[in-house]
Amino acid sequence: MMKDDIAKVYFTEEELQAKVRELGRQITEDYKDAKEDIYCVGILKGASVFYTDLVRAIDLPVRFDFMIASSYGSGTSTTGSVKILKDLDYDIEGKHLIVIEDIIDSGTTMSYLLKYFEHRKPASVKLCALLSKPSRRTAEVAIDYCGFEVPDEFLVGYGLDYAEIYRNLPYIGVLKPEVYA
Ligand code: 5GP
Ligand code: MG
Ligand code: MG
Repeated sequence: MMKDDIAKVYFTEEELQAKVRELGRQITEDYKDAKEDIYCVGILKGASVFYTDLVRAIDLPVRFDFMIASSYGSGTSTTGSVKILKDLDYDIEGKHLIVIEDIIDSGTTMSYLLKYFEHRKPASVKLCALLSKPSRRTAEVAIDYCGFEVPDEFLVGYGLDYAEIYRNLPYIGVLKPEVYA
């Protein structure tokens, strides 16, 4: 069973769901008078689980779009370079963008993507990240909606993977050291 690989649970399913509802309420309140279209842009694959829960907690008509950006390999440390493997499907000029990300770690990926979005002249861009590791930051990133701040530990579950597995755990935890061996 997957849970046998987990050393410690960081956020339970209930804690995650409560946070998602809170973020959804806040976003709904902030955008309820928006005149322009709202695009929720999920950064695959890590944000996928958070994204699908969060959009259902936003009580407004939003449109879906996704990007795939890669800065990590299959290990646990960043390479520093960002590659766009899948771009936006839509022209976002004049639209409101809510960027939905799993975790801001060094900030490399998101600082790159935020600049990339700004070039396309959206009406506004806000960032919603479930997790943030402030102690790891090397590139400045302003998080408009942040779920939880976490210490410098490698987390899995709720979309976060180790070597592409554990994404479907409904909670977030830390792996036992022997799993990496
Ligand atoms: P950054 O560019 O901010 O250093 O890293 C961004 C990406 O690295 C995240 O979107 C995520 O996919 C991955 N990442 C960063 N920290 C963790 C972590 O603790 N666990 C997992 N599974 N992925 C992480
Ligand atoms: Mg990510
Ligand atoms: Mg990953």
